Amino acid sequence: MAEPRLAGLELGGTKCFALLAEGTRLIERVSVPTTTPEETLGRLDDLLGGWWAQAPFVAIGIGSFGPIGLDPARGDHGFITTTPKPGWANVEVLGRYERLFGVPVGFDTDVTGAALAEYLWGPAAGTTSNIYLTIGTGIGGGAVVNGTPLRGLLHPEMGHVRIRRRAGDGFAGVCPSHGDCLEGLASGPAIAVRAGAKAETIGEDHPVWDDVAAEIAELVAMLVLTLSPQRIAFGGGVPVGQPWLLPRIRARAADILAGYVAPVDAAALETIVAPAAFGADAGPLGAIALADHARTGNVTPLSPPGG
Ligand code: ADP
Ligand code: ZN
Repeated sequence: MAEPRLAGLELGGTKCFALLAEGTRLIERVSVPTTTPEETLGRLDDLLGGWWAQAPFVAIGIGSFGPIGLDPARGDHGFITTTPKPGWANVEVLGRYERLFGVPVGFDTDVTGAALAEYLWGPAAGTTSNIYLTIGTGIGGGAVVNGTPLRGLLHPEMGHVRIRRRAGDGFAGVCPSHGDCLEGLASGPAIAVRAGAKAETIGEDHPVWDDVAAEIAELVAMLVLTLSPQRIAFGGGVPVGQPWLLPRIRARAADILAGYVAPVDAAALETIVAPAAFGADAGPLGAIALADHARTGNVTPLSPPGG
């Protein structure tokens, strides 16, 4: 049977991607800079329209930066809502693509899409609770619980939790909304301010990493205690570029949990806390996963990428 043609959009703070897939095979990936909504969404409309003219796709998935409105009972459903990004607050996304193409459209955060791809086609298959965390320009997390993207009032905003700081750490943090929330302390730009150098240039022995690993471990422990995930996948420039960071995060998380959650000891954390499976394709496949979910509710999952 022919693989379904699925379109995707990845909406990021600095760039967006229009995507086209046959099943889980990405056949087109075009980058568009994030400028104004009119210009950027207009260019994405044109790209999707060109692919549609060649052969219609059966669904669209949109993985977006947040916050976004996901409660159908609210007027902001399908919108990018309170972002500080100039021009992008209160911008309708979901309805725009439903009207343009008349096919099912999945809309969620980029990280929830990535968690869904890990669940549908990756190592989170068979879990009943899995999380995808990105540590990059920002910190964000999405969750899939019982095969469904976790939603409620809106969607998880895991990066903005406030966590316990290490003694003597007085850094004020860089989050424009919260100062020293986790994103304000341990995102790439926060690390750069703390160390006075870009995160990618800071050596493994620099003391800033002790704070960063401890702070991210606080979130890992919090997630183990609240959402009971069988897998927490890490993506984003910071953990991908500094692969020795995950072992430090695991060790610290094991200390914080102190053996209370019986199956979650240091050895178990080796498999629970893991690098994201799809690397640079996590975001694109996340958008395609949202398209597939909108189309089928994942009743008959597609074959995994490369499978
Ligand atoms: P985004 O979050 O914008 O999608 P990335 O996930 O690539 O993009 O994250 C970008 C951030 O990751 C930047 O703050 C950058 O400094 C940081 N980063 C990129 N490479 C590395 C690296 N090798 N080590 C540590 N930090 C890195
Ligand atoms: Zn914050």
